[in-house]
Amino acid sequence: MSDVLITDGEAIGRLCNQFAEDLRAELDERWKRWPLDLEKQEVHEAVGALLARQVTLAREIAQAPQTWNWHIAPILLRAMADVYITLAWILVDPTERSQKFIRYGLGQLKLQLEHRKAALEAEGTPDPEALRAIEVQEQWIDAQRFGFLTEVNLGSWSETTTRKMAEDGGCIDFYNYVYQEFSAGTHSSWHHVGRYNLKECENPLHRQHRAPSDPDLPCDLWILQLAGKYVAKTFSLFDSKTTVAIPGPSAVEKLYSGLAELAKTAEAQEPD
Ligand SMILES: [Zn+2]
Repeated sequence: MSDVLITDGEAIGRLCNQFAEDLRAELDERWKRWPLDLEKQEVHEAVGALLARQVTLAREIAQAPQTWNWHIAPILLRAMADVYITLAWILVDPTERSQKFIRYGLGQLKLQLEHRKAALEAEGTPDPEALRAIEVQEQWIDAQRFGFLTEVNLGSWSETTTRKMAEDGGCIDFYNYVYQEFSAGTHSSWHHVGRYNLKECENPLHRQHRAPSDPDLPCDLWILQLAGKYVAKTFSLFDSKTTVAIPGPSAVEKLYSGLAELAKTAEAQEPD
């Protein structure tokens, strides 16, 4: 992409809506072409859900230009990095690891519900609607019909760090350069807030201390391209591990060529 400023917001909007539609079509196509093995229901559900999650995140970013700035985008892009790393980790040993992934999630939810129940009971007369909401989630846990899951136990979940998962999944570079980079904004670490939420005080007597600030940031089209890049990377990881192949051009290729087209038009319209 050239660095020409594309100002035709309407054209970008159309391109993004097309991208969203293409992503969903590509996801469906992969699902259809992936031979279903009902003996491995957990693999298909865990991998399928993560693949769909990546499509959701990329599509939501593409359709919300207000998020294309460096206050908000790191949070969304970090979530996409998480999806990629988890999927890479699972696909190394799909059966065992999708079971681990599911068990861990169910355990986390169960623990969370126990905390909520304890907090409600401490109130004396718990809100019946809140209790009902907990019950619905408990039913979701109990309705999981996986052969490997005899019961959902608390405290038996082995937690692993994202770094370790990235190492095991063969994508430590992605962890170092992408996941880490966007973690600062996600956790509001000093190296994010110190750069994005402070400005130099204008009083010359104040020795250049910095004051809080909430600046409007410019819309950065690069963020849309990154979302495209990560969803494409996730699709090709899936394709390489499952040997599913779908005919191109892909949603991301179409997005990129559409943007290049718009950049060309913008360049032609620029005064010399
Ligand atoms: Zn001051």
